[in-house]
Amino acid sequence: MKNKQPSVSRREFLATTSAALLAGSATVAESTAAESANVPKLALKGGEKAVKQACKQPTRWGDLERERLNAMLEQNTLFYWKGPQTTLALERFKKLYPLKYAHTCSSGTAAIHIAVIAAGIGPGDEVITSPITDIGTVIGVIYQQGVPVFADLGASTYNLAPADVERRITSKTKAIIAVHLCGNPCDMNALKAIADKHKLILIEDCCQAWGAKFHGQPIGTSGHIACFSLQNSKHITTGDGGVVASSDERFGPLLQKSGDKGGDRLKGGGFHSFATNYRMSEPQAAVLAAQLERLEGIASKRAKLGNLLTEKITGIPGVMPHQVHPDDRCVYWFYFFRMDPKTFRCDRTEFVKALSAEGVSCSAGYIGVPLHREPVFQKHGFFAGHWPVREFGLTTMDYTKHQTPEVEDILKTGIRITIHEGMTEDYIMESAEAIRKVAKHYTA
Ligand SMILES: *Cc1c(COP(=O)(O)O)cnc(C)c1O
Repeated sequence: MKNKQPSVSRREFLATTSAALLAGSATVAESTAAESANVPKLALKGGEKAVKQACKQPTRWGDLERERLNAMLEQNTLFYWKGPQTTLALERFKKLYPLKYAHTCSSGTAAIHIAVIAAGIGPGDEVITSPITDIGTVIGVIYQQGVPVFADLGASTYNLAPADVERRITSKTKAIIAVHLCGNPCDMNALKAIADKHKLILIEDCCQAWGAKFHGQPIGTSGHIACFSLQNSKHITTGDGGVVASSDERFGPLLQKSGDKGGDRLKGGGFHSFATNYRMSEPQAAVLAAQLERLEGIASKRAKLGNLLTEKITGIPGVMPHQVHPDDRCVYWFYFFRMDPKTFRCDRTEFVKALSAEGVSCSAGYIGVPLHREPVFQKHGFFAGHWPVREFGLTTMDYTKHQTPEVEDILKTGIRITIHEGMTEDYIMESAEAIRKVAKHYTA
């Protein structure tokens, strides 16, 4: 797992920032003059805030959910199988995501674990995925004794770099899990081509991407199996929950039993396969049925606000906006831009502090380190301190040597901006103005 070749994305990164680097050679005297001449005083230093609007939290649930929950209370069962709420929720899901087989489950982590079981991933099988994601992306892989292989990402898309995925394919590779990070669709054409060429199963982690579209098609419909989370922080939620779906006849018929103790409720006939219990109950399904009615409004609003922010911060020296393909719909679970540290006289901590003082809802970075640098990976200690597949020689994976250089840079230079459907376009415009003001102030 050596990784030293400079990726295209890295070159693009340098190209987009070279103008900023030139600007960096301006003398301190010049910049001080510019500062006093035309940059308003930072709110951090007692100046007026750039963001003047208050921003109200969106209403997440109400009458639609109440109606479903009341209907549920009239039932004599709260069990999922043939439950009216589950049936309705899946009917509505399939209208939005035209996939033949769809099942509710207890979380996004569960959805991905079910997908991994249905895909037949077994001891020593390698699964290539992103190291910037929720750990739930790989929990199921590890439980099935598969081996997560982390690939590098695009510099500003924060999604799998197809060339790096292909480079990491070995005779043991069985699947790719494409994570649509922040609700930004991965390059599914490129990933599908790689999967087809190497006969790999393509699983989509759509947990942050409810309502996102790849080239006009709902995400989750171009890979083999789609996985969604309904955890409280996601666009639509049941508190906790998930959906797993597929139109592929090899995997779709296996999804139900792969989340329900291995038992096939349609065919019956005892236990021929093995799985844990990841069922979702009717109260959650009732909420899901209602939440799905809200999805399009939420997704289109978030897409509009995030795209507006990009439009307004494009061209600010040292600021690299979140990169979305023009044919795609990104739903911005959050907005992530990068700052070029060489452009600014301050570090990221100070930049974020100044932005926050202007009234922007923001924070530095996302997850602390790439997943493979978390202690449990570094110790290879997944099962009571052991990792049987490694100890029994089914893999030579050594996470202490695993490298994804672009990912390291992304996590060191990324700034996260909250986007939600309760925000107005004016609020976003003022936030963009705040970014411009802070960037200008600190430009060396
Ligand atoms: C939230 C999330 C998960 C896990 O979902 P849970 O419902 O919390 O288990 C997996 N992958 C991504 C990208 C996520 O954001």
